[in-house]
Amino acid sequence: MKWEGQRESDNVEDMRGSDGGGGGGFSFGGGRGLSLGGVVVALVAGWIFGINPMTLLGLTGGGGQVPHTQAPRQQGPGQAGPHSKPQDAGAKFVSVVLADTEDVWGRVFQAAGQTYQAPRLVLFSGRTQTACGRGAAAMGPFYCPGDSKVYIDLSFYQTLRDRLGAPGDFAQAYVIAHEVGHHVQHLLGVTDKVEALRRRQSEREANATSVRVELQADCLAGVWAYHSQQSKGWLEAGDIEEALNAASQIGDDTLQRRSSGDVVPESFTHGTSEQRQRWFKRGLAQGSIKDCDTFQTRSL
Ligand SMILES: [Zn+2]
Repeated sequence: MKWEGQRESDNVEDMRGSDGGGGGGFSFGGGRGLSLGGVVVALVAGWIFGINPMTLLGLTGGGGQVPHTQAPRQQGPGQAGPHSKPQDAGAKFVSVVLADTEDVWGRVFQAAGQTYQAPRLVLFSGRTQTACGRGAAAMGPFYCPGDSKVYIDLSFYQTLRDRLGAPGDFAQAYVIAHEVGHHVQHLLGVTDKVEALRRRQSEREANATSVRVELQADCLAGVWAYHSQQSKGWLEAGDIEEALNAASQIGDDTLQRRSSGDVVPESFTHGTSEQRQRWFKRGLAQGSIKDCDTFQTRSL
């Protein structure tokens, strides 16, 4: 991916190095932040903290709701303003990808007679406060609809490459595009509807609903990739394969097989490796949101 020198977003907040606050953390578990692949992250956390990943994920607990009414926390001292953009390559890369999602979704929304309101993206290290509760690096990247922000600790990219077997810059771009996909779902009203639905559902049903949400975010990432390449032509040989491999490596079945060896489909929240790849490809095929209706389709 030829990203160097491209426009960087004004919507990046650099909170790295600022204290995300004390306390126990992981209040997010089972909450309604929308992650890339919660299991992965819980796995990693489990390895680090020696606790059962399923507990972290809220799969064995009640799966409480995060109040949407909680006001976003004040901005921390480490925050970069629009005129003090981070200078390290990792942050620049994320900023360039975010900027391109702004361009692409701005045009897609405009073509539909709507206005795209871009999300902000928070770079943090360790843990951070969000309108959805406390976020922790071990959860991996996530989107909080309560404050319309994408959160990422860039150390996740090392995990993605070294522990999950998904190297490559376009694998990293897919991660951002997936989270921005959750923001698009939020703007389209999908997120609120789904939350109302999940509240009435059993845990098993709620998991199945979550899979549809996540596969749609993968499809929307594909829609972005289509339009991004159409306008910039910046993909290189192997880039699409990097994204597809990442989608595969963070499929629920692959993650579960890797962690415990037992694959429990009822506990899936993001979809299988095959499904995640297929929905990304579906969005990528024609760049049409209409192809991303994971809620009406009979077979995922
Ligand atoms: Zn997600």
